[in-house]
Amino acid sequence: MIVAANWKMNPSIEDAGALAAAYAGTAFDGVTRILFPPHPYLVHMAMRLGQSGIRLGGQDCHSAASGAHTGDVAAHMLVACGADIVLLGHSERRTDHGESDALVRAKAGAALAENLSVMICVGETLVQRDAGQAEDVVGAQLAGSVPEDVDAAQLMIAYEPVWAIGTGKVASEADIGAMHAHIHTQLAQRGLGDVPILYGGSVKPGNAGAIFAVAYVDGALVGGASLVADDFAAICDAAQATI
Ligand code: PEP
Repeated sequence: MIVAANWKMNPSIEDAGALAAAYAGTAFDGVTRILFPPHPYLVHMAMRLGQSGIRLGGQDCHSAASGAHTGDVAAHMLVACGADIVLLGHSERRTDHGESDALVRAKAGAALAENLSVMICVGETLVQRDAGQAEDVVGAQLAGSVPEDVDAAQLMIAYEPVWAIGTGKVASEADIGAMHAHIHTQLAQRGLGDVPILYGGSVKPGNAGAIFAVAYVDGALVGGASLVADDFAAICDAAQATI
């Protein structure tokens, strides 16, 4: 099981230090934890996490290795800060920055070239789900965002229905199961059947256990609840309990 914390553009540096120290002070058998803090905190978080085994990741990277790209971060810079993974194609980046599948794929290529693992996010909007297009949309995102030659060991997929992120609304277990099975089938057709598939969208201590019990759910990408140390620990506990 994998439980990843996406802090987005939160919290303050003081709170981040305390939160990372709290994460590092706990351990969960069989649960891989990943922290995606804001980029300026990466080195500080690497020190706070110490030998805890918690993996560190960037929330994005550029598709180029260097150049005139003000405000952007290259994959090798994430590696230099202690990251071994990068989150790509989060719906907030797809929406706020107009990121296309092709751009996400190019970023993934750049990250893989630096030996970073990639967690690629996919997910449909509510309009698309209501129109019965959810599986087609996610299938197209997978086909367009995941590089051809990726090694399964360096890839994770996060299925995050856009309408469930930060809203308190959670997809039903039946819908999560259907979509994760669909994603698994698509990946298996590309020889990527071993790739972990995480669910994301308002995962909390109260619903994590039921979500983790769904077939082909290999963990969670957690936003809001990851900002509360006890909630994140409770979600990791639920992950451990399903092993
Ligand atoms: C996310 O940021 O990827 C996310 C799933 O957020 P939340 O858990 O707050 O819905």
